[in-house]
Amino acid sequence: MKKVVIIGAGMGGLATALRLAYQGFAVTILEKLPLPGGRSNVIMEAGYRVDTGPTILVMKEAFEDTYRSIGRNINERLDFVQLDPNYRVYFHDDTYLDLYSNMAHLAQEMEKIDPGAAERLFRFIGEGAKKYELGMDFVDRNFDRITDLANFQSLKRLVNTGAYQNLYHQVSNIFQHNDKLAKTFSFHSMFLGLSPFDALAMYSLITYADLALGMWFPKGGIYSIIEDMVSLADEMGVEIRTNSPVAEIDVGDEGVKGVFLNSGEYIQADLVVSNADLPHTYRDLVNGNGRKDYSDQRLERMSYACSGYILYLGVNQIYPHMRHQSLYFAEDYKANLDSIFKTKTLPEDPSFHLSIPTVTDPTLAPEGHSLIYVLAPMPNLTAEIDWDEAAPIVREKLLDQLEHIIDPQIRSHIAWERDYRPTNWQIDINAEHGTAFGSLSHGFFQSSYFRPHNKSRYIDGLYFVGQSTYPGIGMPMVHISSKLVTERIVQEWH
Ligand SMILES: Cc1cc2nc3c(=O)[nH]c(=O)nc-3n(C[C@H](O)[C@H](O)[C@H](O)COP(=O)(O)OP(=O)(O)OC[C@H]3O[C@@H](n4cnc5c(N)ncnc54)[C@H](O)[C@@H]3O)c2cc1C
Repeated sequence: MKKVVIIGAGMGGLATALRLAYQGFAVTILEKLPLPGGRSNVIMEAGYRVDTGPTILVMKEAFEDTYRSIGRNINERLDFVQLDPNYRVYFHDDTYLDLYSNMAHLAQEMEKIDPGAAERLFRFIGEGAKKYELGMDFVDRNFDRITDLANFQSLKRLVNTGAYQNLYHQVSNIFQHNDKLAKTFSFHSMFLGLSPFDALAMYSLITYADLALGMWFPKGGIYSIIEDMVSLADEMGVEIRTNSPVAEIDVGDEGVKGVFLNSGEYIQADLVVSNADLPHTYRDLVNGNGRKDYSDQRLERMSYACSGYILYLGVNQIYPHMRHQSLYFAEDYKANLDSIFKTKTLPEDPSFHLSIPTVTDPTLAPEGHSLIYVLAPMPNLTAEIDWDEAAPIVREKLLDQLEHIIDPQIRSHIAWERDYRPTNWQIDINAEHGTAFGSLSHGFFQSSYFRPHNKSRYIDGLYFVGQSTYPGIGMPMVHISSKLVTERIVQEWH
C-alpha cells in the first residue's frame, strides 16, 4: 500500500485524504495547528460557535462531488439551508438591495434602485451563464501543456463573451453606469482576493454561480463540514496528527522519501501532497535542486491576494430585521479598493462583509444572543501597516457602521469579542504575506495553466492541493483541486 503524507488539514487537504484513502492509499495528515480546517476554522468560546473564515457556500455541487467520490451523500449527513435572499447590500446613503436567487424577486428589487434595470439584469445573467460554461472548461481539468489551455472553440467563446475585458467596466456598462448596481454585480472578484478594477470580466461567472446556483448554509456552520470530513477520515483509517508542523520535505535522487517534523521526528512517505501555501512549501520546506522552478526571486515576483481584518462579536440581542449575509459598500468604492491593492494603506471608509449566522441557526450562540462576523478586506503584509496600531482604528470604523446598520446601541450589547488580523494568517497557517482568502491572486498569468501546477516539475512524488494550485481560491475550488490531484496521483501511482 503506497503511503501518502498530506501537509495541512485545510478543506483541500482533508478532501484529498478522503479521496486517496478511498482509492486504497495509506494516508497521514500532518497539521501545524491544534485543530484541522486551516482557513476554515472555528472558535468555540463562551457558548458561541464561530466560523473564523469562509461563511459563503456556493457551488454546492463541488462539495457533493467529494462525498460522492467516496460513496457518501453530503446531504444525508449535513442539514443545508438555502439562503434567499443570498445577501442584502447596504449603500452609504441608507438604501439597500436584497440579492435574491429568485429572479422575479431580484428583478423587483432592481427596479427600486433603477427603473428599467430588470432588463439589464437578464442580459447580465445570460452573459454570466456563458462565462460560467466557458470558465468551468478551464477550472475542472488538469493541465500538462499550454495547448491544454486553448483551443479554437474556447478562444472564440472568450472573444464572444468579452470575458477578457475588465470586470468593473463591463458590468458598469451593462448597468448603464448606475454606481450601486455596478458595485453590486462586480464585487465578487474580491472572493478571490482580486479588485474588480483589475479582474477579468470572466469572473462575473462567480456572480452568476452565486445567484443562479444558490447560496447555502449548513446547520452548525461551515465548520460542521470540516468536522464531518474529519469523522469520515477516522472511519476510513486516515491518521490526522494536529500540532505537527512539518519542517522539511526529505528529497532523495529518486524523489520524495518522507518529511521531518519540527519536533525532529521523521515520517517515511512514498508521496507527499502539500496543502500548505505553495510559497511556504517551496521556500521553507524544500531544499536544493527541487527549488529550480520556484526560487526566492520568482516567489517574490508573483502577485499576492489581499488580506482582511475580521471582528467577531457576540451580542446579547436578537436582530429580526437583519439578513444572514450582507455587504456594505463604501461610497468611494474605487478609493477603498485602491487603498487595498494599489497604495496599500488603511482604507478610510472600509467596505465589508457582514454575516449573522444566528439568523439561520440560533444554536450558534447562547439563547437570546446573536453572533456577528464582520470581514473588511485589507492590504496584505507587503503594506507598511502596524497592525497593533491599526486594529483598534479599523474596529471603531466598523462599529460606527454597525451602529448605523444594525443597532445604534450595539457597543453596549457586546458580550464577547475577538478579532483576526493579517499578521494572524502569517503566524497561524504560514500564509504568504498574511493573505486571507488564498495566497496567489487570480490575474490572467496566475490562473488555470499559468497557476502553479498540482505536481512538482523537479521532485518526483511531490504534489499540491488547495488554493495555491489550480483551479484556485475558495472552498468549491479546493474541492475541485482535490479531485484533480487525486486523478493525477491515481493515474501515476496505481
Ligand atoms: C476570512 C476568510 C473568508 C473566506 N470566505 C470564503 C467564503 O465565504 N467562501 C469560500 O468559498 N471561500 C472563502 N474563503 C477562502 C477559503 O477559505 C480558502 O480558499 C480555502 O479554505 C483554502 O483551503 P485549502 O485547502 O487551500 O487550505 P488552507 O485552509 O489554506 O489550509 C492549509 C493548512 O496547511 C497548514 N500548514 C501550513 N504550513 C504547514 C506546515 N509547515 N506543516 C503542517 N501544516 C501546515 C495550515 O495550518 C492550514 O491548516 C475565505 C477565507 C478566509 C480566510
